[in-house]
Formats: sequence, structure tokens, C-alpha cells
Amino acid sequence: MPKIDPWGSAAITDYEHVFREFGLGKFPESVRKQLKHRFFQRNIIIAHREFEKVAERIKQKKPFINITGIASSGPYHLGHKVDIDLFLFFKEHGAKNYFCVCDLDAYSSREKIKTVQQAKEIAVQNAADALALGLSEKDIRVQSGREKEYYGFAFELGKKITASTFEAIYGHLDLGKVSANLLQYADILHCQLPSYSGKMPSVTGIGLDQDPHARAVRDLVKRLPYEMEVPSFIYFRHQSGLKEGSKMSSSDPDTAIFLSDSQADVKRKIGNCFTGGRNTAEEQRRAGGRPEICKKYEIDLFHLESDAKLRGIFEKCKSGKRLCGECKQLTIEYLNGFLQQHQAKAKKNLGKARKLVFG
Ligand code: SF4
Repeated sequence: MPKIDPWGSAAITDYEHVFREFGLGKFPESVRKQLKHRFFQRNIIIAHREFEKVAERIKQKKPFINITGIASSGPYHLGHKVDIDLFLFFKEHGAKNYFCVCDLDAYSSREKIKTVQQAKEIAVQNAADALALGLSEKDIRVQSGREKEYYGFAFELGKKITASTFEAIYGHLDLGKVSANLLQYADILHCQLPSYSGKMPSVTGIGLDQDPHARAVRDLVKRLPYEMEVPSFIYFRHQSGLKEGSKMSSSDPDTAIFLSDSQADVKRKIGNCFTGGRNTAEEQRRAGGRPEICKKYEIDLFHLESDAKLRGIFEKCKSGKRLCGECKQLTIEYLNGFLQQHQAKAKKNLGKARKLVFG
């Protein structure tokens, strides 16, 4: 009988080099047990920088800052939903919430966004999705509509980081990206200014590839003339695209499930995605499938809420009792059920979202 490991914890060994090279802490097991959410229980959050400070605040039921931001460079896909689900988890645990819709960042750093107006139109759809997923209007901060104190602070940060530091971290001095980075730093740090939430631990969930930003902002905070806690970060394991070896990308829509996808899109994308199935049905019945390399299983791992259902999918795959066609159908059904409801809610929230972006 194959080893049953539906949470894929074995795959964490693939990240050993990350802990070694970047000096990231492995997510502590004692804290993992404390946080009842699939992202922690299934080893989807794998690493951290000083998350203990936030865990302690949660334990003591004291406030902390929950800050995340997503560039408005395209429609949200399931990868973005993961960021928002984590944000909602911290919101439920008494956080001060700052969800940044980053339209200016997207405009200044992405070649494909030609005007601020275009970024703002994308931001409207993004904000409608965020509202539909459970955020309130108060949680959402649209970069282009912030208070003057926020912009003043972003400029102030510019004086605290040198060109050579930028080049060392990012390997370039592209002015658009430099301005976007300053806004990202401002998003994370402004929450601790006295007129916002004041000094307190903060947490931001990011992908491992975003660690240079985390290191930069943690270094920057020490050079500011304000009383602030060094921000904490937690790291998601890599989320891949639906094709073999791909990343989720809005420039190749078939690599990801978007929150705006039609039922037919989902059917096609999951139908064509890379799986861990065998060459023939007979071989799969005999040897079992390989959920650890299956992109469809990865979606289940990140998004299917029921542990029992996830375990069932894993066990039936490994034992060869269920073949990929039937298995994909289950995922198509629950994703389409979710998207149908989500899209109706997002549509209802469009007016509020437009008001948040355009005033
Ligand atoms: Fe993936 Fe399901 Fe096929 Fe297993 S049976 S490889 S989980 S699609």
C-alpha cells in the first residue's frame, strides 16, 4: 500500500535549499497546530520571518496588522484567491485589515498596462471580486485614491533606500519598478504610522519569489524615524500553472482558473491540465496515480475545503480505484459551483467597487 500523505508534506523537503539560502525559518509546528485553517494544516504555508510575534498576538487575542496587496494587472485567478482566503483568516482573528488594490503599482511596473485609467478599470473588477469573497469596503485601500499622508510617506521612504541597494536586491534600476517598490513598502509600513493603526506586529502572506521585497522592507523599517515593529511574513509553497512546468499567468489564460471564467472554460482547462495519471487505464488501475505531480490535485489541495473529500481523492488516486477523467469531473463540479455563486456576488458588488476606485 502506498504511503498516505494527502497533505504532500514530503514535498516540503524540496524547499530545504530555500531555508538554507535565504535564511527563512521553517514554519513552526507548534504554531501550525494553533492555526485552524487548511493553509496551515496542509503545509501550504511553509516558511516565515518572525511570525511568532503575530501568533502570540492571536493567542492573546490582541490586535495585529493584516496587510496584503495585489497588483491590478489583470483579473484575479485562483492564486489570488489564496491570498484573499489567508487575509480573511487573519481578519477573523481580530486583525486591523489593509487589503491594497495596487493600481498605481500595476501601471508603473507592468509594460502591458498602458494608462492609469486601464489599471483603475482592472482595479474595479479586482475590488468587486475581493468584496464578493468576503472583504468589506473598509478593508479595501485603492492605491490611487489614498490619503495625502500615504503618498508623503512613500516619498519619504524613497530617501531611505539607495540606488545601489535597489540594484543589489532587484538587479535593475527601472524607474517604473522602483516607484512600484516604494508603493509596496509604503503599503506594508504605513499601517503602523500613528494616524493609522500605530506600532504593532504585522503579517503579510507572500510567495517565496517575493522574499527580496520582504527583506528590503524589514531592513528599511529600521532606518525610519518612527516607532515600528519589523513586519512579519509567511510564505506559501509554490503554486504552479495548469500545464506541465508552467506558472499561473494572465498572459496565458489556460495556465490558470480565473474568477471570471465560464463553466465551459473550467471544463476545458481542467480537462486539459497536466495530471499524474499513467499512460493507460490498465497501468493506472495497477500502479495508481501520482497526486504529488498532478496539477488538478494541487488545485484540490489549495481550494477544496473538506479534508475528508481531499483525503478520498488522494486515496482513490494512489490506489488506482479512480481514473483521471472521473477525478477531474469532481473538481470541475465544485469549482463551477463556487464560480457561479462568486460571479453573481461580484456582479452585485460592481457599483461599490467602482465607487472605491473612482470615488
Ligand atoms: Fe490527478 Fe486525480 Fe489523476 Fe490522481 S486520479 S493523477 S489526482 S487527476
